[in-house]
Amino acid sequence: MRDKDLYKQILGIQSPWMVTEVELSMTAGEVTVHVEHDSEVRPTCSHCGAPCPGYDQRSRTWRHLDTCQFKTLIVAAVPRVTCPTHGVVTVTVPWAEPGAGCTALYEALVLDWLKEASIQAVARQLSLSWNAIAGIMQRAVTRGLARRQVASPTRIGVDETSFRKGHDYVTVVTDQKKGHVLHVAEERTTSSLASYYDTLTEGQKAELESIAMDMWPAYIKATLDQIPEAERKIAFDKFHVAKYLGGAVDQVRKQEHKALMGEGCDDLKGTKYDWLTNLRNLSRKRQCTFKALRASTLKTARAWAIKTLGMQLWHYVSRTWAEKGWKQWYAWAIRSRLAPIKKVARTLKKHLGGIRNAIVLQASNGASESMNSRIQGLKVRSRGFRNKGRYIQAIYFHFGGLDLYPEGVRGSMTHST
Ligand SMILES: [Zn+2]
Repeated sequence: MRDKDLYKQILGIQSPWMVTEVELSMTAGEVTVHVEHDSEVRPTCSHCGAPCPGYDQRSRTWRHLDTCQFKTLIVAAVPRVTCPTHGVVTVTVPWAEPGAGCTALYEALVLDWLKEASIQAVARQLSLSWNAIAGIMQRAVTRGLARRQVASPTRIGVDETSFRKGHDYVTVVTDQKKGHVLHVAEERTTSSLASYYDTLTEGQKAELESIAMDMWPAYIKATLDQIPEAERKIAFDKFHVAKYLGGAVDQVRKQEHKALMGEGCDDLKGTKYDWLTNLRNLSRKRQCTFKALRASTLKTARAWAIKTLGMQLWHYVSRTWAEKGWKQWYAWAIRSRLAPIKKVARTLKKHLGGIRNAIVLQASNGASESMNSRIQGLKVRSRGFRNKGRYIQAIYFHFGGLDLYPEGVRGSMTHST
């Protein structure tokens, strides 16, 4: 008798449900708690809440949090009712979501573990099947996406992230202010990004202030197609421009290093990193040698100076000044007689509108960039994903800022791990 009361308390079982029996199997290390619906109380339809005549009962089992290190199961005969409006309906139980094989609290425990470890690891730890854990994760993401408030992000970033080696990508849209992933789509095509815009209302599309991206034609096209005033909103951000210019500096260095070595001069040997990194990242000693290199008449030093000045354009906040600064910079770059620099300068000129937008709107794809590395980190920790669907789901699970917990466990989590 005392066991029943204890488990009633532990499980939070309330009328019309009651604990009828608690079975302890020492050999199996299991506690089975039998729960029944009060036969005096008419069960209610789970759709409309109307008390209805019973139809039949079905026995179901749920895994619950361990009690005193015993694996704990809830077993209940769940009534089905005949509702005049909804027909034959299974009554909902307060401890689990419909169709779930574990209680809501147990699911919450699994979700907490999943935030820290892979599906395989969680399955092993909790002695459940891979499919059971993957199912809990999948339901949580579906639940979280359904619950998500229709947010109106104003500053978004679009980036591609690789799924497998080679040209296999997914497109990730990030809320630049909140740092959450808003949308994940397969490939990196026009329709990948269009599938995100399709989820927005016309009003929300108009409310977008900036869309930071790489100079990737498919993303540009999707945005021009669907977003009003896209020409003023598309922003080719600093990080991507820096990447292009950095690439050009590196090409100049490689060519020059080869030529110098031919003449028996190894001035550029081992300096690759110096030219590409932020000055602050260099040691005091390296800074000194690098200072001398920068001041030299080397072509690489010239390329580096052009890159550095180009990046300083981001300090301008007015369109006019950004314009003037740009013109001067472009003239210098194009007269530099450095082919890789000239090539990048022409690419940038072609995309000048978007670069100016990025400067004036102070739009940066920094949130997308850091999201990209977090996603790649997740991929390494998870040792890859079985398929793209799982990959996309994991991105939403970890980075979607979603409310993942089952109903009844939300807000006031009653367990702690
Ligand atoms: Zn009903």
